[in-house]
Amino acid sequence: MKFADLHLHSQYSDGTYKPAELAAHAQRCRLAAIALTDHDSVEGCQETARECTAAGIEFIAGAELTAERDDNELHLLGYCVDIENPTLLTRIARCQAVRQDRIREMVARLNRLKVPLSTDAVFALANCRSPGRPHVARALVKARLCASLDEAFERFLKRNRPAWVPKLKMSATEAIELIHQADGVAVLAHPGLNRTDDVIPSLVEAGLDGIECFHTKHSTAIREHYLELACRFHLLVAGGSDCHGESKGKPLIGTVKVPYPYVEKLKTRAAELKANSSLRATP
Ligand code: AMP
Ligand code: FE
Ligand code: FE
Ligand code: ZN
Repeated sequence: MKFADLHLHSQYSDGTYKPAELAAHAQRCRLAAIALTDHDSVEGCQETARECTAAGIEFIAGAELTAERDDNELHLLGYCVDIENPTLLTRIARCQAVRQDRIREMVARLNRLKVPLSTDAVFALANCRSPGRPHVARALVKARLCASLDEAFERFLKRNRPAWVPKLKMSATEAIELIHQADGVAVLAHPGLNRTDDVIPSLVEAGLDGIECFHTKHSTAIREHYLELACRFHLLVAGGSDCHGESKGKPLIGTVKVPYPYVEKLKTRAAELKANSSLRATP
C-alpha cells in the first residue's frame, strides 16, 4: 500500500525543514508522494520538486492560503496548482507584503511593551517572503526575551494578546477561485481545528473540491466525521501531518499518512479542471 503526506511546511514559510530535509524524511518514512503547502507561498515548490525527484518521491505542488468567512480564519489548500500562474503569484505577493508589514507592526507593539526585539532580527531569522508569528516567537526566544515559543505565544502573540496583529485575509470564495484559475484543486484544511462545519455547504457552493480529513490534530472520531461529510457532499479527501518540523523532539512528517487512492482522485480532479480551463481558453 502506498501513502502520502499532503500537508507540509518548509523554511519558505514557518516550517523549520529545508526542501532537501523534507525529501529525506519522506524517503525514510517510505512515502510515495508529498505535497508542499507553505502558508501563502509557492516559493519552495521548485526546489522541493527537484529534491523529491532525486529521492524517487512524487511531488505535488501546493500552498495553504489564509482566508476568512464570517470573521473566522480558514485555511484553503491548493493542490496541483500551476506555480507560475501570474494571477496566483500576484495575489500571493500581496499576501506576503501584508505579512511583512504585519511583522513590523508586531515588533512595534513589542517595542512599546519595552521588549527590545528588532524587525531585522525577525526578517533575518525568517529569511523567506512569507513570514509569520512563529518567526517572531523564534526571534524572541533567540534573543532570550522569552524562555520558549509557548511563552512567546501566550504572553504576546496569540489572538487578542498585546502584540497580536490581525491578518488581512482574502475571502474563502476568492481563495477557491484563485486556486481554480491556477488549475489547482481547492481543499479546506483541518476543518476540525476551526470548527467550521456550518460553512462547508456554502464553500461547496463556491466550488470547494475537498476537505482535509486526515490531520495530526484530528482524532479518529473527527477523521471519521469528515470522511462521512466528504461522502455526503461528494468532496475529495486529503490529509497530512501539517509538519512544521519536529514535534516533541520527533519529525512530524509521515505521522499522518493518506492512502494513495485519495491522491489519485485529487490528481484526476486537477486534470479535469485543467482540461476544462484550456477548453474555455480556446476561442
Ligand atoms: P500566522 O500565519 O502568522 O498567523 O501564524 C500562524 C502559525 O503560527 C500557525 O500556522 C502555526 O504554525 C503557529 N501557531 C499558531 N498558534 C500557535 C501557538 N499557540 N503556539 C505555537 N505555534 C502557533
Ligand atoms: Fe504554520
Ligand atoms: Fe493551517
Ligand atoms: Zn499548515
